[in-house]
Amino acid sequence: MIFTVAIDGPAAAGKGTISRAVAKRFGFRHLDTGLLYRAVGVKGGDPAEAARKLRPEDLERGDLRTLEAGQAASRVAAIPEVRAVLVEFQRRFARGEGGAVVDGRDIGTVICPEAEVKLYVTASPEVRAHRRWLEVGGDEGRVLAEVRERDARDMARAVSPLRAAEDAVVIDTSELGIAEAVELAISVVRERLPRG
Ligand code: C5P
Repeated sequence: MIFTVAIDGPAAAGKGTISRAVAKRFGFRHLDTGLLYRAVGVKGGDPAEAARKLRPEDLERGDLRTLEAGQAASRVAAIPEVRAVLVEFQRRFARGEGGAVVDGRDIGTVICPEAEVKLYVTASPEVRAHRRWLEVGGDEGRVLAEVRERDARDMARAVSPLRAAEDAVVIDTSELGIAEAVELAISVVRERLPRG
């Protein structure tokens, strides 16, 4: 069976939690594509070269989840050559044998428009910044500014901007609890799974 669940949306909307829960529930593989861009961003040097030389161990670095790595990721993610280098790997992962959950910004629109399920997970910038602040601490105002800056860059870039695919199911987690959002995502996937 080939079955792809594409999950897109802005930073800290709950994509990661929902993706992991869906993958676990159905026994699917999971790829967090943000990690690819984060790893390229923190490598330094020429970004396209860093993308070509990316190795599995680069995704294990302990500093990939920081605010700085997120900013570096969104800067290199606007470079068409960087995106082009990373496309094949993501497509192969998404369409390999067995189910796959792939989360990012352009999975349903560019990487895998043929995905059997597309979810767009979003929430207001304030709610997302508050969640991110609970994880990283520091100054909440700065975290909100960082969220807004990254949204603006991700949505305005010329290549593969962040947007919901026309056929995506939108899950707004501003009001929904995370458990409810996970249940909703699971029910959408269950409905689309081949019978039998
Ligand atoms: O999802 P995460 O916050 O880890 O992503 C970091 C950055 O990587 C995003 O702000 C975005 O600029 C970029 N990204 C992307 N396309 C993806 C995944 C992430 O452009 N599929």
